[in-house]
Amino acid sequence: MLVEVALPVPIQHTFTYRASTPILPGIRVHVRFGGRRLTGWVLGPADESKEFKNLRDVEAILETEPSIPTDVLQLARWIADYYLAPLGVVLRTALPAVLSGAVHPEQPLRKRKLIRLLRDLPSLTERDQVFGRAQRQRELYELLENLGGSTEVTHVTTQLGFGHAIIKGLADRGLVTIEEETVSRDPFVAMKPAPVTPVTLTPAQSAALELLKAAANRTHSRIPDSTFPVSQPIQADAPPPFLLHGVTGSGKTLVYIELLREVLRQGRGAIVLVPEIALTPQTVARFRSHFGDRVAVLHSALSDGERYDAWRALHQGEKSIAIGARSAIFAPIRSLGAIVVDEEHESSYKQGEAPRYHAREVAVVRARLAGAVCLLGSATPSLESWHNAQRGKFRVLVLPERVEGRPLPPVQVIDLRNRGPGSVGESKRSLSPPLVAAIELRLERQEQVILLLNRRGYSTFVQCRECGEVWQCRQCNVSLTYHRSRRRLVCHYCFHEEAPPVICGKCGSADLSFKGVGTEQVEREVIESFPAARVSRMDVDTTSAKWSHHDILGKVERREIDILLGTQMIAKGLDFPNVTLVGVVNADVAMNLPDFRAAERTFQLLTQVAGRAGRGPRGGEVIIQSALPNHYAIKNAIEHDYISFAARELNERRTPAYPPHVRLANIVISGTEETFVQEAAEASAEWLRAALRGTREVELIGPAPCPIDRIRGRWRWHFLLRSARAAALGTACRQLSLRYELKPGRADLRLIIDRDPVTLL
Ligand code: ADP
Ligand code: ZN
Ligand code: ZN
Repeated sequence: MLVEVALPVPIQHTFTYRASTPILPGIRVHVRFGGRRLTGWVLGPADESKEFKNLRDVEAILETEPSIPTDVLQLARWIADYYLAPLGVVLRTALPAVLSGAVHPEQPLRKRKLIRLLRDLPSLTERDQVFGRAQRQRELYELLENLGGSTEVTHVTTQLGFGHAIIKGLADRGLVTIEEETVSRDPFVAMKPAPVTPVTLTPAQSAALELLKAAANRTHSRIPDSTFPVSQPIQADAPPPFLLHGVTGSGKTLVYIELLREVLRQGRGAIVLVPEIALTPQTVARFRSHFGDRVAVLHSALSDGERYDAWRALHQGEKSIAIGARSAIFAPIRSLGAIVVDEEHESSYKQGEAPRYHAREVAVVRARLAGAVCLLGSATPSLESWHNAQRGKFRVLVLPERVEGRPLPPVQVIDLRNRGPGSVGESKRSLSPPLVAAIELRLERQEQVILLLNRRGYSTFVQCRECGEVWQCRQCNVSLTYHRSRRRLVCHYCFHEEAPPVICGKCGSADLSFKGVGTEQVEREVIESFPAARVSRMDVDTTSAKWSHHDILGKVERREIDILLGTQMIAKGLDFPNVTLVGVVNADVAMNLPDFRAAERTFQLLTQVAGRAGRGPRGGEVIIQSALPNHYAIKNAIEHDYISFAARELNERRTPAYPPHVRLANIVISGTEETFVQEAAEASAEWLRAALRGTREVELIGPAPCPIDRIRGRWRWHFLLRSARAAALGTACRQLSLRYELKPGRADLRLIIDRDPVTLL
């Protein structure tokens, strides 16, 4: 018989192979393709009537039970179709690397070399003494601590990038031992979850929960008892997705938890998506404290083996709740009862490479396929979701107040335009006197402070005072950021580094100025201004080790840090009752980006970070520094007024029309030669224009150079497709993807289709 197989290759169609026995859909097989052996997925019987040349055999059937459940297979087809990605590439994304053939061989399980901590170094001074300048050894030591005391040696050397010399260094100090062991590869087993303190639901929480439970029971009663693979999907009658709009600190997480409890009671499972799992250890801990070992945490820092174990535990039904970032939406849950998307407005739910799916959209589709309740939660819902709610597609649940009658913190704006001489800017001070005074007060009271600046590095650009030249990356058209700790200019797009200049390369002047304040510079100012304070900076540069977020946030929780300073990383989901002041060093960072979501991003970030203040009985306040204090994004954030913001912003996006009123696809053409890229962009746009002639439903805008017109040495042009109808846009994208070919002979040219883009840069 013939079977249809999806392969993880960048080709849109599927492939046909010969099999000696029938094979169930979702089963992994080995086949020959282009001289290589690949892992593919059987989709079902193939059309026997077609003629095939050189038909090959399936070489091996890798499993008896499909690794891909039916609803995930259907979901993958939807993704492949909607986002124009090869089905095999989607399926590879949906499975742990061990299963998709990306990692070879399937290592024998449960027999590994472990590195294990032997000795505790509780005090920081002791650590300073022991490690001295051996910073990497200390990093590894603290990482192991965060991993619960042990992990695989190969994980440390390959994924986490520590050399054997560092491991040996720790062993020589008697701090670790290397042993061969047989253990469960769940690093979370060793991490003790927070104890559960019983609370009474607020009336708003109860009301929301009643509706959710009713929906869960309704869907449950419709589903026949399922064996694995998952029951026949019920397309019709699934409840509409719920949008939980709850102000910061209103207790959204508890609503998620109680919904999950109901679903588990029914014998079903659930998926919880969080934007970036490393940044939300508290949320994860709360789920674990309620549901213990039934939770599989799909953490980005897991080794391939650990990830596979977590996946397998879900697949076998040993665990029934998956919590993780974006890709956890593919978790193989038996009988899925609920999908929760926390902070549903976050742009990290969109994948930046093929398949370019948005996990929130995929969650809605999977819930429908599986007959599960879909719950999207946020204090600042995306305008897409808000729009859907207004059109009756989503059902809104509201938590209008913080728990225990706590007020939202008052927000004060410091107008950066009116700063006199000697204040911000002039004397290079980024913290205005009122903000400094407010910090002092908190330090005196032994309370904690969060400071946000969404720009890392020391100076964001270097400019010649004589001729105005700005130092740019050779590979990308972006300015280089000065990192003082490394004394290097760094490109944030391609990681190119170079020594900072001494004289201008263009005019020879030595009069160079380092401009634009980043987190490193604020950190220095904070340390100088408050020498007694314990300060920690959290941004991409301080959190490169995979478990370092846990480490920093743990210290804040234990009150070993007085001032936490950082980029947007610190704005998400943190719940520290002793934080009574949040300061925003510059609220305008995102406002000037050439992106139609600039105002929305600004409003969200300010509202979210403001929401970190005053979560405990001591209350709190927020101070925002801005040169645009009258902009509606900032004004509405000050008043915690999402509804007004959304109304105004929806109006702003009417003309010219932008999402959510219309759908977009961003078509990006890139290559190494500027003129060829331009030609290819013009040719492809012209071809599609011709193909679209006759339909008024899809509008083509451009082509033009991308706002950042070169990245990593590749020139970039783009054009936009715009339509009020998703289906029409899909048809246009499909034509381009299936019918159009870039000029042959220019192998470096690439065309990508990004549907529902989250950024147009
Ligand atoms: P959100 O996610 O909406 O910002 P959280 O779920 O983090 O809010 O809740 C804020 C805090 O309030 C948490 O410490 C949580 O334990 C607590 N909390 C939630 N619900 C209640 C309740 N009904 N009574 C008392 N405390 C609650
Ligand atoms: Zn110059
Ligand atoms: Zn670069």
